[in-house]
Amino acid sequence: MKIFQEIIQQTDFQQEDLVRLLSAENEERILLFEKASQVKRETIGNKVYFRGLVEFSNICSKDCLYCGIRKSNTNVIRYDVANSEILEACRFAWENRFGSVVLQSGELSSPVFVNRVDHLLKEIKKLSNGELGITLSCGEQSRETYRRWFESGAHRYLLRIESSNPELYKKIHPDNEHHFYEKRLECLHLLKETGYQTGTGVMIGFPFQTLEDLADDLLFFKKMDIDMIGMGPYVEHEDTPLYVYRHLLKTRQERFDLALKMVATLRLLMPDVNIAAATALQAIDPVGREKAVKVGANIIMPNLTPCDYRKEYQLYEGKPCLDEDASLCKNCLEARIEISGSEIGYGEWGDSKHYLRKTGRS
Ligand code: SAH
Ligand code: SF4
Repeated sequence: MKIFQEIIQQTDFQQEDLVRLLSAENEERILLFEKASQVKRETIGNKVYFRGLVEFSNICSKDCLYCGIRKSNTNVIRYDVANSEILEACRFAWENRFGSVVLQSGELSSPVFVNRVDHLLKEIKKLSNGELGITLSCGEQSRETYRRWFESGAHRYLLRIESSNPELYKKIHPDNEHHFYEKRLECLHLLKETGYQTGTGVMIGFPFQTLEDLADDLLFFKKMDIDMIGMGPYVEHEDTPLYVYRHLLKTRQERFDLALKMVATLRLLMPDVNIAAATALQAIDPVGREKAVKVGANIIMPNLTPCDYRKEYQLYEGKPCLDEDASLCKNCLEARIEISGSEIGYGEWGDSKHYLRKTGRS
């Protein structure tokens, strides 16, 4: 059997190597984190980029078994942030030299929704003289919709695969045509074809998931040649069907630690991609995102959703910063990122080196 010190020096990894890295404890865990931090520094440097996150609507047509804003959860008050407020949040991002914003919502595909997002994209480009980068995270859409939004100014899209194992995907989604693994996969291909910088990711530590599954998720990102990845711990929500399996879960702290190891291991496997420090990390540890930055992440998404709406966008329990407005959020993050030894890439898009290299732009 290979020794751990040899595995972390590799540049290519098999499933068993990745499982070994994800199982690292004590000194091996520290070695993994140090190596990932070194690879990050040497490949993409020490900059962290901000993407201002606007959770503009919690209305969703889907019923993912893990998610607090799923259609069937009647305890949620549904909202749609007014266009003027969304644009105000984006203006804040631009004036404060965040390079980009992320517009995220529940999944809808009605013409009204598609037109609305399209309109917002054009307005955001206008108000920022084309300077703000725009990422969308609005779920599965048709080829035409993806193309239309791309042409109106979105250049990145986040669609997590949640689990790259089709059997496991089935276990955490209702068994109907609105929740097909194949459709999700097809959407990722459509996004790439359309020209988006494509982001995906998984939840870490949900019931039935094994370390082998997580290792396969990492290999899936590599095989799909993904540009940006966002992965965070699964955090149970009591108003969801998956909650009944909570006795199968690792402790929250263990899930958090596994998420850090996933980030570090991914940095070794794909040195030049963008890796987001997921907000769910902060639901478990107040400085969780900064810890992820230390071991390989380079993207943070400060929440710019107007405060009144935040408590109704609880995908999971214990969501942080429910009452911090955007400027407070920014100051608090800034200080903490600088303490963690990184620099903030103000006013820069911070596209993934992976994407730039692939498209011949670096
Ligand atoms: N509706 C869109 C975007 C909003 S959901 C979509 O589904 O793509 C964004 C992400 O939140 C999901 O991809 C999922 O990975 C994450 N999420 C949902 N419920 C969660 C939970 N209980 N714990 C951790 N992450 C969760
Ligand atoms: Fe809707 Fe996204 Fe939640 Fe699924 S994960 S229920 S699509 S908001």
